[in-house]
Amino acid sequence: MPDIHARFSPSAAKRHMECTPSLLLEEQFPSATSQFAEEGTAGHALAEHLIKKYLKIRSKRPTSDYYTDELVEAVDDYVDYVKEQIELARSECEYPVFNVEKRVDVSNYADNCFGTADMVIVTDNVVHIIDLKLGKGVPVYAEDNYQLMIYGLGILEEYEMLYDIYVVRLTIHQPRLQNINTWEISSTGLKAWGNEVLKPKAALALSGDGDFVAGEHCRFCRAKNQCRARAEEYLRLAQLEFKKAPLLTDDEILEVISKADELSKWAADIYSYAQDEAINSGKVWNGYKLVRGKTNRKYTNEVDVKKAANEAGYNDIFKKTLIGITDMEKLMGKKKFNDILGDLVYKPDGKLTLVPESDKREAVSVSTAADDFKEEI
Ligand code: SF4
Repeated sequence: MPDIHARFSPSAAKRHMECTPSLLLEEQFPSATSQFAEEGTAGHALAEHLIKKYLKIRSKRPTSDYYTDELVEAVDDYVDYVKEQIELARSECEYPVFNVEKRVDVSNYADNCFGTADMVIVTDNVVHIIDLKLGKGVPVYAEDNYQLMIYGLGILEEYEMLYDIYVVRLTIHQPRLQNINTWEISSTGLKAWGNEVLKPKAALALSGDGDFVAGEHCRFCRAKNQCRARAEEYLRLAQLEFKKAPLLTDDEILEVISKADELSKWAADIYSYAQDEAINSGKVWNGYKLVRGKTNRKYTNEVDVKKAANEAGYNDIFKKTLIGITDMEKLMGKKKFNDILGDLVYKPDGKLTLVPESDKREAVSVSTAADDFKEEI
C-alpha cells in the first residue's frame, strides 16, 4: 500500500537510501497516481475486508470497478496464505496478535517515516510481516527488502515490551507471478541495520545531501525523466571506448548487455515523457510531429451487424471458443478441475531469456545441436 504523506516513505526507502538527494528532487514533482496504483489500492481494500471477516472483525465489503475475476482470484490467493499463517500462529502461541493494515511508526530511526504493513502477526518469539504485491511485471523479493525491514523495526518497537521477539520474518506474496518468498532476520540484526544504515542514510536523504546514484531504483522516481545523473549514467554506454578491432570482444558485449535493459527502459521513459508533453501540453519538439497510429476496423453495433448479415442470407457468423483455464477452474472448483481436467492441462516451458546472474529464477542448462550430435555418436 502507498505510504500517504510520509516524507521518508518506507515504500520509497530503497531509492532514497541509494540515491539520497532524490528525496528532495522528487518533491519538486507532483505525485501522480496511475491505474495500476488505483487497482492495487482496491485489491488491498478487498484483502483487508476478507481477512477481517476471517478474524471476525466488523468490516464492510468494498466495491470497485477494478474487481475483475482475475484480481479477486489473486487477492483470494493472498488471503488463503494469510489464513494459513493465522492458524499456524494460533497453534504455536497462546496469545498471538493479528493486525490487518497496521499503521507502523518508524520515526525513531527516520524523521517523518511511517507506513502501513498489510498483515502483521506477532507470536511469542516471532514477528511475521506479510506484504501483498499485485504487480505483474517484476518479481519482488523479501531478502533485504528495505520497505519490509522498516516495518519490522516499527513493529519491534511496539511489541518488544510484551513479547521476547528474536526473529523478524518478512514475506512477499505476489499472487499474479506465483511468487511467495520469505526471509528472516534476527531482531538484533535488524536493529543494527536500523541504526547503522537506515538512520544515517535517512538523515542524508531528508537534508538533500549525498550523491545522485542512478540504478534500478530510478524506476519509480518522479524525477527520472529529467534527471541528469540518470541520463549521464546511460549515455556513458554510447561513449564506451571499444578497441579498434572490427568485431566486439565477449567482454565488450557483456558490458553492453549489462546496461542494455536499463538503457532501453530509460530511453522509453524519456520518449514517453516527450510524447506526453506534446499530447497534453502542446509542446513542440523540433523535428518531431504528432500523427495518428494505425487502427483496425470495428463494428459500430453488433446487433445491427447480425441483423443486416442475416437479412442478406449470412447466418453462419458466430464462432464458439473454449473458456480459459482460469474460468474453467472457477466454474468447476479447484478439486473437480484437477480430477476432471488435471491430465489435460500442461504448462509449456517458458521462452528462454538471458538474464543477469542476480535474477532469482533457477538457471536452465541447454544442450546445443552440437552437444546432441556428440551424444549420438
Ligand atoms: S532518477 Fe535515479 S539518479 Fe535521478 S534522482 Fe531519481 S533515483 Fe536519483
